[in-house]
Amino acid sequence: MKKVLILPGDGIGPEIVAEADKVLSRVAELHGLDIERDYGLIGGASIDEHGIPLTEDTLERARGSDAVLLGAVGGYRWESLDISVRPEKGLLGLRAGLDLFANLRPAILYPQLAEASTLRPEVVAGLDIMIVRELTGGIYFGQPRGIRTLDNGERQGFNTLVYSESEIERIGRVAFETAQRRQGRLCSVDKANVLECTELWREVMTRLSAEYPDVTLSHMYVDNAAMQLVRAPKQFDVMVTTNMFGDILSDCASMLTGSIGMLPSASLNANGQGMYEPIHGSAPDIAGRGIANPLATILSVAMMLRHSLDAAGAAEAIERAVSRVLDQGLRTADIHSPGTQKVSTAEMGAAVVAALG
Ligand code: NAD
Repeated sequence: MKKVLILPGDGIGPEIVAEADKVLSRVAELHGLDIERDYGLIGGASIDEHGIPLTEDTLERARGSDAVLLGAVGGYRWESLDISVRPEKGLLGLRAGLDLFANLRPAILYPQLAEASTLRPEVVAGLDIMIVRELTGGIYFGQPRGIRTLDNGERQGFNTLVYSESEIERIGRVAFETAQRRQGRLCSVDKANVLECTELWREVMTRLSAEYPDVTLSHMYVDNAAMQLVRAPKQFDVMVTTNMFGDILSDCASMLTGSIGMLPSASLNANGQGMYEPIHGSAPDIAGRGIANPLATILSVAMMLRHSLDAAGAAEAIERAVSRVLDQGLRTADIHSPGTQKVSTAEMGAAVVAALG
C-alpha cells in the first residue's frame, strides 16, 4: 500500500486539488492501485487554524507518506504577516523537512495549445523539455550571507554560491536517470567560464557521464541557454542546473508553453519520496469562482504516480486522458480560444475522469 498526504492549501488550491483527487481515485480503481489518502492543512489555511503555516504534525505525516500532493499557498489575507510566518514558509518547511533536493519541471506544449504560446507555433509545437533544478543548495542557502557595513560606511550585500561534490553528484544522477527514461540527451547548464563553483559542477557532471553511456551529455553556459530556450527550445530534452539558474530558466521555459495552468512539478528526495504541485500559485484573483484550470494539478498526480508510487502505466493513462480532453475542445478560461468550449474547473475534472475510461 502507498500513502499520499493531500494538502490543498489556499485560494484555488482546494478547487483544483478536489478535481485531481477524483482523478487519482478513478485511476487507482482502474489500475488496481492500493493508495491510502490523508488530508492536512498548509499555508494560510494552517495559519488560520494553528497560527503557523506548517505544523510539526503535518510535517511528520508528510515524512510518513510516499508522496505529498499540494495545491498552492498564499493569498491577500496573509500578506501583512511577518515574513517568518507567511504561508510560503510552509512550502519551504516541507522542502527542507523532506530534503527535497531535486526539482523536476517539465515544459510541455500540447499541440492542441500551440496558439497559446507567445512564440510562433512552429517554434514551440511539440515542445517537451524536462528541467532538473537543484533545490536545497547553491546561492539561495550558502553561508555567509547578509548585508554588512564597510569601514567607509557603505553597505554591502553578499551571498555565497557553494556546492559540494556530493550535492552535484546526487542531482546529476537524478538528471541522467531522467534522461535515460526520455530521449537520452542531457544538457548541463553552468557558468564555468566565470564561477569556480560551476567549474566543479561541470567536472562532476562529466565524470558521472561515464556511468551513463546511453545518455549524451552536453554543456552550455547559462546565458546561452536562456537565449537558446527562446530561439530554438526543441533542441533540449533534459536540462540540469543549479538552484538559481534553474529557478530562472524553468520559469522562462514554462512560459514558452503560454499556459501556467497546465504545468506540473515534482520535488524529490534521495528515497524517491516527493512533493507534487502545479507550478502556479494560489491565484487569489479567481479563487472561489470555479474557473481555475485543474490540469496542472491533475498532471502533478501523473508525475506522482510515475516518480513516487511506482505506477508509470497509471501516469500515462492520465496524460492520455488530458490530451483526449483537449482534443475534444474543452478549455478552462485561461486556455480558451475561439472555436473551443469553455468549461468550469469541475467540468474539466469530470471530463478527465470520463476520458480515463
Ligand atoms: P499565481 O500563479 O497565483 O497567479 C498568476 C496569474 O495566473 C493570475 O492571474 C491567476 O489567476 C492565473 N492562474 C494561476 N493559476 C491558474 C489556474 N490554475 N487556472 C487559471 N488561471 C491561473 O501567482 P501570483 O498571483 O503571483 O501569486 C498569488 C499567490 O500565490 C501569492 O500569495 C503567492 O505568494 C502565491 N504563490 C504560491 C506558489 C505555490 O504555492 N507554490 C507559487 C507561486 C505563488
